[in-house]
Amino acid sequence: MSENKGENESVGVGENENERHNKSVQKITHPFHEEHPLVLVAEQSNEGLKAYCDGCRELLSTPCFTCIHCNYHLHKQCAEVPLYLPNHPLHPQHSHLGLFLRQRPYPNDQVVYVRDLFCNLCQKQHSGPFYGCSLCHFNINIGCALPMSIVEDKSRHQHPFTLLRRRGSFICDACDTEGNFVSYICSTCNIMVHKKCTSLPRIIKFSRHDHCIFHKYFLKDLTRQVCKICFKEVKLDRGSYSCRKPGCNYVVHVNCVLEDDDLYKVIEEEKQWEELYEKSMQSSIIHVIEVNEAREATKIEHFSHQHCLVLANKMEREIERKCDGCMLSISPLFYYCSECPFFLHKTCVELPRIKQHWFRQSNATLNFKGFLKCSFCCRPCSGFFYTIRRYLQMCLMCAKVADIIECEGHQHFLFFDFKCKENCNGCGIRCWHGAFKCGKCKFVLDFACLTLPHSSFHKIDEHMLKLTYHDDKEKSYCDICEQERDPSLWYYSCSICDTSAHPKCVLGQFPFLNDGITWDDVDHPHTHDLNFFRKAKGYPECFRCGKLCQEEILKCGESTCNYIIHCKCRDY
Ligand SMILES: [Zn+2]
Ligand SMILES: [Zn+2]
Ligand SMILES: [Zn+2]
Ligand SMILES: [Zn+2]
Ligand SMILES: [Zn+2]
Ligand SMILES: [Zn+2]
Ligand SMILES: [Zn+2]
Ligand SMILES: [Zn+2]
Repeated sequence: MSENKGENESVGVGENENERHNKSVQKITHPFHEEHPLVLVAEQSNEGLKAYCDGCRELLSTPCFTCIHCNYHLHKQCAEVPLYLPNHPLHPQHSHLGLFLRQRPYPNDQVVYVRDLFCNLCQKQHSGPFYGCSLCHFNINIGCALPMSIVEDKSRHQHPFTLLRRRGSFICDACDTEGNFVSYICSTCNIMVHKKCTSLPRIIKFSRHDHCIFHKYFLKDLTRQVCKICFKEVKLDRGSYSCRKPGCNYVVHVNCVLEDDDLYKVIEEEKQWEELYEKSMQSSIIHVIEVNEAREATKIEHFSHQHCLVLANKMEREIERKCDGCMLSISPLFYYCSECPFFLHKTCVELPRIKQHWFRQSNATLNFKGFLKCSFCCRPCSGFFYTIRRYLQMCLMCAKVADIIECEGHQHFLFFDFKCKENCNGCGIRCWHGAFKCGKCKFVLDFACLTLPHSSFHKIDEHMLKLTYHDDKEKSYCDICEQERDPSLWYYSCSICDTSAHPKCVLGQFPFLNDGITWDDVDHPHTHDLNFFRKAKGYPECFRCGKLCQEEILKCGESTCNYIIHCKCRDY
């Protein structure tokens, strides 16, 4: 329906007849809004008022045309483009009909063909009025239909680019991909580029590399390079982004690095960025109270704990203690609290409070939580989390995983692919938000499997069980739950006793939760807060299923209550 509507509005109006100017107040009638004339507003009178252009749907700015009766607005620029382009060179098949200006198809239009939403030339989604052919689905945006003859932006390229219309396709020197019909050339540099590539940022900071990277039209002094994002070859005589620091050898395709604007930031000057970065780095230690002769901080105030923490390198008694920050066993050196049981590895104490993680270019902030579900491994965890953009919570184990890694369970290196939606080869679960992928063969791993402990104890076996990646058997069983086990997936095993078991059976459901934490969740049936414990004292009965509690439990904190349930019984 939107199709016909658009055509009828435009047919017969003819080029530029929409601008019947009234000299005194500048009024026009426009076919996009035929009910009333539109009045020119030259300057913004009410700054707080936010309105959007009904043509391109971008924020309204002056000069613009407005209908005061209907609150209908058009940027002056949007109102003044020709309604009709005869004999357009980009669409010779139906050139006798010409191209007509149409309003952008909106999501609530009744019938919208997906291909009508995107410009046939630059593939960008239409954000404003565009030109379409009335016989076929050919359509292009205004910028591609009426390209500027000269583009000049000294901050992006030192010379002006000149429009060169071509009959067919070309390869863009800036990004090494194909372009069609509309090209821009710089005759000083001898390059031909896409329109969009005339304004490529010279310097960017990409989340997955520590230094600024620079756009170059060719790379000398380098041998064969692969893009560190897609791991396909980068042609050295075409444009790419690369790091200038000696020894870095970091090169990426233009389109790979600029694909997601959450992952990079345009940098005007490298120096400036480095200074800003230094400033934004913040220690998690609030205050150093005492230092020793080696200038090590021996007594500190840390944001994660209300008491002072003291440096130590040995436990007073041989007890198994977990670090309250990362949930792994305490090892020298570490800090402890002299007033209550609280331990942190020295490396965990020294984690930056604010840092930039490769998953996003925006900053990640360190927080300390009793109970939070990690957005990456999807496990409830206690301790330190990096919060990215307020809604992404990353547990410390996930935060430690680099974007390009080697892992014991696979012979080739793996790299993170944000678009991967395949099943994890470790656990068989579908990945929805990207995963680590092998560039050489079909192999995918998610954060949860990558962060599984390499070994773990379980009472079923006197030896340490090892994480195992291959099983030759055709059918296998888990020795803990006695259910079937898919032999193609990862499992824990003891080669001496021939024990094998599901990872979740060996580790329990909540291996990274701290004992005693408040179950910060609404999915339990009790009115008071419940505390999590790995083991109950004695063998009390579960209030829900009536069986003895020998595994993870939730217990009410109120002394009068005596309410205990299995963790697994919490959401009946
Ligand atoms: Zn290009
Ligand atoms: Zn690439
Ligand atoms: Zn570098
Ligand atoms: Zn304490
Ligand atoms: Zn995690
Ligand atoms: Zn997995
Ligand atoms: Zn099992
Ligand atoms: Zn209670």
